Amino acid sequence: MTQNEKRVAIVTGASRGIGAAIAERLASEGFIIVINYSGDTAPAEALAKKIEAEGGKALTAKADVSDANAVSRMFDAAETAFGGVDILVNNAGILKTIPLADTSDEEFDRHFAINAKGTFNTLREAAKRLRNDGRIVNFSSTTLALNMPGYAIYNGTKAAVEAFTHVFAKELRGRNITVNAVAPGPVETELFLQGKSNEQVAQFAKMPPLERLGQPDDIANVVSFLVGSDAGWVNGQILRANGGIA
Ligand code: NDP
Repeated sequence: MTQNEKRVAIVTGASRGIGAAIAERLASEGFIIVINYSGDTAPAEALAKKIEAEGGKALTAKADVSDANAVSRMFDAAETAFGGVDILVNNAGILKTIPLADTSDEEFDRHFAINAKGTFNTLREAAKRLRNDGRIVNFSSTTLALNMPGYAIYNGTKAAVEAFTHVFAKELRGRNITVNAVAPGPVETELFLQGKSNEQVAQFAKMPPLERLGQPDDIANVVSFLVGSDAGWVNGQILRANGGIA
């Protein structure tokens, strides 16, 4: 039995992209995984089956993270199935780049509802319900350091996530729960590729001195470190994983 066995990890937005890679990686390390998503059920179910086939344990939980009641029910489901929650990975997020002048009220609200309030909703639930000795990993973005045109709303949501991370790490004093955030650079997922030409993608790939796009596993490696025992003294930090862009 590994040290992680029976430790329960909720990974939000785990049906594809970075979240799916995190779910698989943590499952391979013995964590029981709650695969959260809000849209199409099929990829989440397929991932759960894959994890189970590889000897892991997983539950799918459809919940829009921007809906506080749905988030609460997801924690209920995890507690009912597995007895509690130890790890929260707040990976769910959306991105649509739009110049500020062209941004609709709806796009502004949708980004803040999912990226910022979604993270707030799960953090608030975790404050009440995470077992001691737990770990929380939030998701910011290296775009916050790059200040590229079109990223104002998205960066605003991620600035909120970084602020939550710093304060929440202190609010959990006494429970031996760490709260950190990962801030990836460009990672080759649907979120990143959507709406970009091949030339734009190639330009992003050239940005890091390591001269490639990040892959979901690059980020899963970092999350694995942060939720593992080696990161026990890392708390309240934002860890950029971007091949050296910024
Ligand atoms: P993807 O679009 O590939 O995957 C997003 C995941 O989140 C999907 O599983 C999606 O499933 C889920 N999701 C979306 N909205 C919600 C919601 N309201 N509630 C619950 N789940 C939801 O994104 P990535 O894997 O690329 O991004 C993951 C995180 O990494 C995000 O926070 C993003 O901001 C951050 N990031 C990504 C970078 C990149 O270059 N890819 C760079 C920097 C940061 P469904 O649609 O079914 O809900």
